[in-house]
Amino acid sequence: MLFTYDGIVVGRREVGDNSCFIDILTDEQGIIEASAHGAKKLNSAILSSASLFAYSTFCLNKTKLRYTVNSAKPKYSFHDIGSDIEKLALASYFAQTVRFCTPEEQTQDSMVRFFAIALYEINSAERLETVRSAFELRYASMLGYHPDLRACFNCGCYEHGEMYFLPDSGELVCGDCFDRDFGGRYFVLPPETLAAMRNILYAPLSRAFRFRISGDSAAVLSRVTEHYLLSRTERTFSALEYYKKLGIGN
Ligand SMILES: [Zn+2]
Repeated sequence: MLFTYDGIVVGRREVGDNSCFIDILTDEQGIIEASAHGAKKLNSAILSSASLFAYSTFCLNKTKLRYTVNSAKPKYSFHDIGSDIEKLALASYFAQTVRFCTPEEQTQDSMVRFFAIALYEINSAERLETVRSAFELRYASMLGYHPDLRACFNCGCYEHGEMYFLPDSGELVCGDCFDRDFGGRYFVLPPETLAAMRNILYAPLSRAFRFRISGDSAAVLSRVTEHYLLSRTERTFSALEYYKKLGIGN
């Protein structure tokens, strides 16, 4: 039976001399693993669509539980990412994250568009760390881990000289309401950091990555979003460790 999905290749494993398995991120089915026969032959019609980060319309043949790529029509190529080791490392972290965390066989609203925007932003960004933070926080929210950053959860104030973020509950609390004996994990958010986090969460997808932040506020943002995604998904990612080893953002 044939199915057609728009999707982005987020994983690839070589099989023999000519073929490979690819993991395709789709809105309709989450991650689909499909075999791409002959994809490594230079004259293959699916050569470019089977490469990592290719964004294509895939026509897939499904038999029992296995998918095979029947044909593919490229929509957009992010192959430029591969020419920069730091950008490639960050894109690989994003790919590893969606491979492990995106639920299978469940409809994902706008997940492909979100991932395409993230790759586009990596390609054009001056500061990769802001792209990383935007991805981590928005993706966590898309998985269902929504922090509530609208206002202090106790008194409802929007701004305060001191704002605290409690990652375990996803709540925001102001300096007047914060319990100084609180024993859990918390982050003190500079105003610029909170504004960036609100932009990431509440802006339309096309603008979620568009904000300016620098200095200490940027450093706090990196720590908060990384902690939030990793603690909520209860994971570590080898691709993130590699990206950080390259020394970006330090
Ligand atoms: Zn308050």
